[in-house]
Amino acid sequence: LTILGLESSCDDTAAAIVRRTGDDAPEILSSVVMGQNDLHADFGGVVPEIAARAHAERLDICVRRALAEAGLSLADMDAVAVTAGPGLIGGVISGVMCAKGIAAGAGLPLIGVNHLAGHALTPRLTDGAGFPYLMLLVSGGHCQFLIARGVDDFTRLGGTIDDAPGEAFDKTARLLGLPQPGGPSVEAEARSGDPARFAFPRPLLDRPGCDMSFSGLKTALLRARDALVAEKGGLTRTDRADLCAGFQAAVVDVLVEKSRRAIAAYLEEIPAHPLLAVAGGVAANKAIRAGLESVCTEMGVQFTAPPLRLCTDNAAMIAHAGLELFAKGRKDDMTLAARPRWPLDQRSPALLGGGK
Ligand code: ATP
Ligand code: FE
Repeated sequence: LTILGLESSCDDTAAAIVRRTGDDAPEILSSVVMGQNDLHADFGGVVPEIAARAHAERLDICVRRALAEAGLSLADMDAVAVTAGPGLIGGVISGVMCAKGIAAGAGLPLIGVNHLAGHALTPRLTDGAGFPYLMLLVSGGHCQFLIARGVDDFTRLGGTIDDAPGEAFDKTARLLGLPQPGGPSVEAEARSGDPARFAFPRPLLDRPGCDMSFSGLKTALLRARDALVAEKGGLTRTDRADLCAGFQAAVVDVLVEKSRRAIAAYLEEIPAHPLLAVAGGVAANKAIRAGLESVCTEMGVQFTAPPLRLCTDNAAMIAHAGLELFAKGRKDDMTLAARPRWPLDQRSPALLGGGK
């Protein structure tokens, strides 16, 4: 099976081709990502209309490149998979329209993929992870613990009740005048900072369960920044590094402790498959990876994280998720709709038999 995948749910336009032969491991034949950081830089965040227009202009270019890099044509594809949600609706519509055009023009089956399923199934693409496994999905828009039981079967154990960590990193960068996306810039600053200088909160650690909260952390950071500015008229390099280090340490502590609880809950149900996989853009963070790795070692659980380029948004994960769904008999038609919201623990209508 050879699947073309398209991704356009946020600010990366992407196309990729993934192939699986028989029971062999799936192989990424090409993966093209065109970022839009330059287009949104002046606005301090992603502007949905600008993103949607850029996707509409660039999807075609990405598809051509992905085909050229793989040395294949549309005639070699078995299906086209596209992110049908959740995400910024204009961008998702751009992708779905493009995929429908390709499907109609080349006579290919169409498969709508949940973007989060793309992230959540990535450990199968990169590490051949077998079901079930415990998943921490931690990105710009999401943060949740899931038990991945099948390609379209996820159980949510808990997650953020407000901001996602990626969003918190991005807001922190904005508050400190660091470049977007905030994750990498805050991580770089934190490296030289003192994490103990500011006592930032660890929200919800006092409550049982796997739910998390990150919005209070941003407020605490804002207060600390404003206090420094009021006191000295500005921030020094050291102040900035210490604020970043303190913020990142708080995020790590929350993710690590909540992972400990999620692992305990998972092991209680499924002791025979001790695996925690992490995915999503924030999984690129080295301090977070190290924290998760150590809690896994402590609890006798295997840990895996995809390479960075497959942690952030890409179309290989969409082509791969589409491949897994297609192999299970999943197919959409021209009525496939873009969905701004699409919780992962809701099974897709197609596999439940009928309906949209
Ligand atoms: P979602 O997948 O939930 O729809 P998204 O697609 O915007 O959201 P991703 O592309 O998976 O999210 O990840 C982007 C986020 O990851 C951004 O918020 C970015 O700041 C964050 N991020 C990237 N690198 C790092 C890092 N090194 N440390 C922390 N956060 C990071
Ligand atoms: Fe994403």
